[in-house]
Amino acid sequence: MSDRRRFVKLSLLTSAGLLAGKGLFAKSRTGFKPAVVKGKPVVIATWDFGKAANAEAWKILEKGGRALDAVEAGVKVPEADPTNQSVGLGGRPDRDGRVTLDACIMDENSKCGSVACLEHIVHAISVARAVMEKTPHVMLVGDGALQFALECGFKKQNLLTPKSEAEWKDWLKEHKYKPVKNIENVLPGGEKNHDTIGMVAMDTNGNMSGACTTSGLSYKMHGRVGDSPIIGAGLYVDNEVGAATSTGVGEEVIRIVGSHLVVELMRQGLDPEAACKAAVERIIARNPEASKEVQVGFLALNKKGEYGAYALQDGFSYAVRSGSVEDIYHSKFHYH
Ligand code: ASP
Repeated sequence: MSDRRRFVKLSLLTSAGLLAGKGLFAKSRTGFKPAVVKGKPVVIATWDFGKAANAEAWKILEKGGRALDAVEAGVKVPEADPTNQSVGLGGRPDRDGRVTLDACIMDENSKCGSVACLEHIVHAISVARAVMEKTPHVMLVGDGALQFALECGFKKQNLLTPKSEAEWKDWLKEHKYKPVKNIENVLPGGEKNHDTIGMVAMDTNGNMSGACTTSGLSYKMHGRVGDSPIIGAGLYVDNEVGAATSTGVGEEVIRIVGSHLVVELMRQGLDPEAACKAAVERIIARNPEASKEVQVGFLALNKKGEYGAYALQDGFSYAVRSGSVEDIYHSKFHYH
């Protein structure tokens, strides 16, 4: 059989298998018929600090408000907290001592907005929302993002707190301005050097939205952008299927377009935890050695209101708030 004929035969078999197996391409626009649990809002967010953020989001969700408003309000909590050194005000700077923020937001209509390498503005998430709502674009970066934020009336301020500045100066002494590949293991006292807030929510109408905001990896090269502001990598929402977000070393997430992958796996029938696990396994399959050295965690919510997470390493936590739950959970992980 010629190569071409073999290819055509294989393609037909694969499509037939998919059609028969999962009932994909059956009814709706993208072929997925979700079971929506209307009237039961839920919000989930990365890490322990997600709990306070969820509480803020919940104020909107419990009153029947829109998931988009809830996730924006929720992630603004860690953005404004100067003691949180991985998000917004007080975030650890890049190797030049500049605090540069990455953020994105996505709603139930697949509208999205994003800013990357934004300086001097605490609420990067609100600038991302303004990009979504007030411009014909999806993403603004660096000076352009700052210019736009100022035009919108956001206040310019210094985001580098004395604590983050002092730690950066200490880091400089030892690391001599050299970016370190696995930087998360090198902070004094073994403290982690990253953590992002990624939040996804479903409102009483069964509509989903998500937000993700971070100061990125500490002491990164100036101009480095991680997964967090990249739609599909750090965050993805498909109102027919579910939503996902990520945290950890962004380069690994970008390589597999992680959050989009998690949502597509849910579309194929995987539950949220299984979808997150499969995405983690994809990272491992691509680079088994490197994956042992870094942390990545995925967090997902489907249209039934089910949620789940999975990480490469121990230590990833996430917070959940619904009508019946207000708690922090430890994610399952691959490397024991
Ligand atoms: N994902 C973020 C980044 O790579 C950092 C983090 O989640 O800790 O910029």
